[in-house]
Parts: sequence; C-alpha cells; structure tokens
Amino acid sequence: MSSQDQLGGATTLRLSNPDVVVVGAGTAGCYAAATVANAGYDVTLIERKSETEAGHIACGDALKGASDFPDAIPKSQLEPAITNTEVDHGRFEIPQEETVLEIPVPGELAVIDRWEYGRRLIEGAEAAGVEIHYDTVVQDVTQNDDGRVTGVTATRRGEPRSYEAEVVIDAAGSLSVLQEYADLDDSTFDTNVTYQHFCSAYREIVHVDEPVEWSDALVFKPTERAAGYLWYFPRTETEINAGLGFQMTEEPMQLVDDLKRDLENRAEFDGAEVEDKLGAALPTRRPYDSAVHPGYVAVGDAAGHVNPTTGGGIAGAAYAGQYAAEAIVDALEDGGPTEAALWEYNERVMDHFGARYAALDVYNILSTAIDVDDLMGLLAAMPGEKLAEALYSGSTDIGLKLKLEALLKSRGHWGTIWNLYKTKRTADALLAHYETYPSSPADLGAWQERRDELMDDVYETTGAEPKY
Ligand SMILES: Cc1cc2nc3c(=O)[nH]c(=O)nc-3n(C[C@H](O)[C@H](O)[C@H](O)COP(=O)(O)OP(=O)(O)OC[C@H]3O[C@@H](n4cnc5c(N)ncnc54)[C@H](O)[C@@H]3O)c2cc1C
Repeated sequence: MSSQDQLGGATTLRLSNPDVVVVGAGTAGCYAAATVANAGYDVTLIERKSETEAGHIACGDALKGASDFPDAIPKSQLEPAITNTEVDHGRFEIPQEETVLEIPVPGELAVIDRWEYGRRLIEGAEAAGVEIHYDTVVQDVTQNDDGRVTGVTATRRGEPRSYEAEVVIDAAGSLSVLQEYADLDDSTFDTNVTYQHFCSAYREIVHVDEPVEWSDALVFKPTERAAGYLWYFPRTETEINAGLGFQMTEEPMQLVDDLKRDLENRAEFDGAEVEDKLGAALPTRRPYDSAVHPGYVAVGDAAGHVNPTTGGGIAGAAYAGQYAAEAIVDALEDGGPTEAALWEYNERVMDHFGARYAALDVYNILSTAIDVDDLMGLLAAMPGEKLAEALYSGSTDIGLKLKLEALLKSRGHWGTIWNLYKTKRTADALLAHYETYPSSPADLGAWQERRDELMDDVYETTGAEPKY
C-alpha cells in the first residue's frame, strides 16, 4: 500500500510502513534485515545502488572466521563466493630490512569474490522475506518532537519517497550520511567521529598468467611512507586483490599511482590485466561508545566495527547486524525501541569484539607516533606466532625464552621495545576497563570518564596526538 502527498510542487510517495527500515545492503544491513525478518517483522532494505551494482563493495576480500557467522543467512548460501581456502598465514615483506616474515594466522581464513559474496548476502536477506528497494538514496532522517527517529526520506531516480518505521537501522557504511542528518545529541549515541578516525583505501582485481608462489598467504608490505600498507590477497592462484591504504591523519597518498608503481616492480605481475577498480574509506578507530538512539541503531562501518589494526570489518558487520536486530525484536516485543531497551546491543558488541578492537586501537595510535623503520626492524626480530596472537586478541604473553631470543635479535631497537612494552600495559588496562562496559545508558558517563583517563595514559606513553 502507498499514498502520495503534494509537497512544495514535488510528489512524495509514502510507502506502506514497515516495522523496520534498514539503510544499506552491505554485510551489516543484510544480516540485520534477515534477522528481523526471520522474527516475523516487515523489513524494507534501502540501497542507493542499482540491483546489478548492489554488493559491489571495495574490499581486500579476506574473510576471517566465516564458519561461525550468524546463521540468519545460511552459510551454504555464501560458500560459492569463497574462492580460496588454502590461505593460512600472513607474509610480511619488509624491504627496509630485506626480510620476509611468515606469520601464521590463527583460526579459519579465506579469500572471497566480494561482489559475488555481496550478491549472495542480498539474496539471503530476500529469502528471509526482506523487501529491497534499489536505486533509492536516503536524503534525510525524520524525528518526532522528542527526538525519536521515525523514518527516512529518500529519492528513487529523482522521485521523492518517505518511509516511516518503528526503528531505522543505519547500515550505510563508513561516514554514514544518516548521522549528519539526524540530531542525536539527546542520547548517548557516539558523535565523536572525525575524518582522522578513517583510512582511505583502494584496490584492483588483477589477473596474472602464471600462478603466484604465495597463493596460501595474505601478503602485506609497508608503503614507502609511514602509516600506509600495500596488500596482495590471492582470490585464486592467478586472480589477486591488490590494494593499499593510508591513515587519513597522514598526507594523502596517490593511491592509484603508488599501487601501480609497486605492481610494476614485481615480476609476478608482468603483463597482468586489471579487471576492476574500487576505493573507499574504512574506520580504523574504537567502536562507538554507544550506537543506539531512540528508534535508531547504527551497525557495521557506520558504528566503527572494524579491527583497527587489520582493517577487517566483514565479521564485525555481520555480528553487529545480528545483535542489533535481536535487540530491536526484543524492544518491539517489550515496550518499544527506547535507548534503554536497545542497550543490550551495545553490550553484546563490546563483549564479543568491541573491547578487543578498542585495545587494538592503542597500537594504531602508537603507529602515528613511532618511527616506522624502527618498528619494522623490530618486527623482523620478533617471534611470528606471538605477533599473530597480539594482532587478533589485542594482547599476548611472551615466555621468558622467547623474550630473551627476541631481545638478542633486536639489539638496536630496545628503545622501541620499551615503548611497546609500556604501550601494551596501557592497552591491557583499557581492555580490562572495556570488560566493565555498563549495563545501562545511565552509567555510560562515569564509564567514559575513567576510559578517557586511561586514554590520557595512552597518549602520554606513546607521545601521540589525542585521537578522540
Ligand atoms: C579497500 C578496502 C579493503 C577492505 N578489505 C577488507 C578485508 O579484506 N576484509 C574485511 O573483513 N574487511 C575489509 N574491509 C572493510 C569491510 O569492507 C567493511 O568493514 C564492511 O564492508 C562493512 O560492511 P557494512 O555493511 O557496514 O558497510 P558497507 O559494506 O559499506 O555497506 C554500506 C551500504 O550502504 C549503502 N549506502 C550508503 N549510503 C547510502 C544512502 N544514503 N542511501 C542508501 N544506501 C546507502 C552503500 O551503497 C552500501 O551498499 C575493507 C574496506 C575497504 C574500503
């Protein structure tokens, strides 16, 4: 059912009101929409791209831990998009040290055809009963006099449209425009977001004639300038996702040219053909302190749910989508989507991965203040398994024997080691504090105050400029 209103000359199509509107048909939006629909509610998913382009998203195509993903979208639906399951380690090329580090990656790892994966996610949401409106760009967020979000307005091929819903899920990705449109000041929703919390990244899909030797590895390499890295992730032995990114705190890089230069210098890419090019921003920050507001929830990149040291955000987006949807269903069944009713979503995110990502953000902050050559020299001397553990857990314990071995190999970098050791202590303290994330919005202020004190220790220890 729909109706039309004449507004200032333009006709706005009012669509029948779904219970929940989801903006963005990426990973977070599809999981959220499917979970709400599976619970028997009406869901409309709004996507600005066309039906053909939807799911085509800039990505390195590396996927971690997919077999444990929420089953709102069946794994069998996504499996055909997984193109390489042989990958089991990271290969860190450190040209400054003429070293290559092979570091095992704990847990299950795969490389995917991201566009196919995106399409299959959307099909999964559709199969769960979600209605999808393509070519529809959200232009504003509507709110009632109390500030509660009541829907969105959009345009579809130039035609205005309006949607009313009990809850709007903001799954519109990095730097979501919905958060510019909405007035979120009267809730705990985290609005402390600046461009410095993002990384700008670009990737190409490249075909080579001969199989690459490292088809079982994710290849990383620091860029010539600080705070950037290149990657080569093998979708297959001859189809490579090649990309690079830099922290937006740095001088902008010429992403396309810098990637081209590196490709030209690698023998394995001789005569290679580029099939597809895409770039985007991704958050490299702590997760939002709170991603809920009455009638409104942000998920995935729109709430900073990315591992800030690896840039991996697909897993966080999938789980955040599920947790948000389950909190919304609970709220709809019990008094409505108030901030307090939606709060369990924040708690589940922090408990599962948010605390860990906040601790890992400390190393990101350190990287903006440290001499990168020194750090690379040190990395080259460290035990690989322990580095991997630290990268994924946010913390690690190094045994005495390993410590001594590393110490001997790393002569010349002891100042950096001391710096890292002190930084790790601040990261551990932060992790412990995140484990006490409050169980209601009323207690968030006191929790943030203590967290900000711990962040002051981080800035003092690392010598970095405050990030938040
Ligand atoms: C270059 C690059 C490489 C990456 N590599 C990896 C990797 O290897 N592994 C990994 O796990 N993660 C990687 N990430 C991160 C990962 O891609 C994201 O974390 C993940 O896609 C987030 O999913 P999302 O659903 O939150 O947002 P998105 O996937 O960005 O989806 C947002 C959707 O919202 C739509 N949208 C936006 N605005 C509007 C609007 N106004 N109206 C309607 N629709 C709108 C967009 O069109 C899009 O479809 C990478 C990111 C980049 C940029």
